[in-house]
Amino acid sequence: MKKQGFWALSLVEMKNKLPSLFSFPMDELGEYFVEKGFPKFAAKQIFNWLYQNWEHDPENWSNVSKKVKEHLKENMTIDLPKVVWHGLSKDGTRKFLIGMHDGRTVETVAIAARDRLTLCISSQVGCAIGCTFCHTGTMGLTRHLDASEIVGQFVAVTKWLHENVSLDTRLSNIVYMGQGEPLHNFENVKKATQIFLEQNGLGLGQRKVTLSTSGLVPQIEKLWDFPPVNIAISLHAAHNDIRTELMPINKAYDLDRLFAAIRSIPLKAHRHITYEYILIDNYNDRQEDIDGLISLLNKKESKVNIIPFNEYPGSDFKRPSDKKIKWFQDALMKAGLICTIRATKGDDILAACGQLKSMEDKLNLWHGEEV
Ligand code: SF4
Repeated sequence: MKKQGFWALSLVEMKNKLPSLFSFPMDELGEYFVEKGFPKFAAKQIFNWLYQNWEHDPENWSNVSKKVKEHLKENMTIDLPKVVWHGLSKDGTRKFLIGMHDGRTVETVAIAARDRLTLCISSQVGCAIGCTFCHTGTMGLTRHLDASEIVGQFVAVTKWLHENVSLDTRLSNIVYMGQGEPLHNFENVKKATQIFLEQNGLGLGQRKVTLSTSGLVPQIEKLWDFPPVNIAISLHAAHNDIRTELMPINKAYDLDRLFAAIRSIPLKAHRHITYEYILIDNYNDRQEDIDGLISLLNKKESKVNIIPFNEYPGSDFKRPSDKKIKWFQDALMKAGLICTIRATKGDDILAACGQLKSMEDKLNLWHGEEV
């Protein structure tokens, strides 16, 4: 990877923790400039360079004043996280291991489907939620990512695609379904989302961004203070006993509390909440699970996304047969629910949440396969 212009910093310098330019939503950057005696419009100019022209060397920002550039040079960094490993699946899914300034890594996956190229991004290093079907859940939480590290995944992957695939490649959608529980890192994920939606920057539409949560009730109740993007809830069970086994968070916030919080989400007309449901053979794929979902979900506002379990070496759970998956879907649709089956993408590079990270030591990716 190329160094990032004249602001490339050493690890020692990074420890001084200058804020990153990639962590500022445009309005906040404008306010910062006004406070420092610079014109507010410099924020718009810089957003244009960073996110529309993909020009990250300030020396080439021809319309930004020298004084602003000098101020930024002394007070901020413009370094990006780094793509340290890349894997291409037979189905076109690309998995990236992204290295942060402190040597920590997270995974980011680019999934091509129809006319979309969706980036599945991480919000934390590890995760505190501990879902039993998830490799990341076994790692525990190491730390939150800051907004620049979340936005940085999008920018670093875009630059990698421009350099290695085609200059026309454009990521069109974002899902917060990589490592971490995004609502556990509320403020950083909120800022990153504001940056993704900014019209003078990446300009992604609200419907192109999906926030996925395991069901952190206090933060769901704060969603009135979050940009109005799509919401996905990792439900995975319609009964408390099974959900608690799969997701220990259900002990703290059971289905009654979760659905009371969901009802508080400000939802515009004709918008849905997506319920993710990992379907596991002989476990949560029974008639009583179908009945439970039908009684829990509001038919007008709910969409169920069935995810057949993605088996990995040593997993206790199994994927149901295709016939069983179809039977489950049909029963929900007959009851009036919108229900889709997510194609399992990237099986051959372990694209399910957390799976690459846990293989990292085995494959010695950080040192052995740097790109
Ligand atoms: S599924 Fe998501 S919320 Fe659950 S442990 Fe894995 S990363 Fe965390």
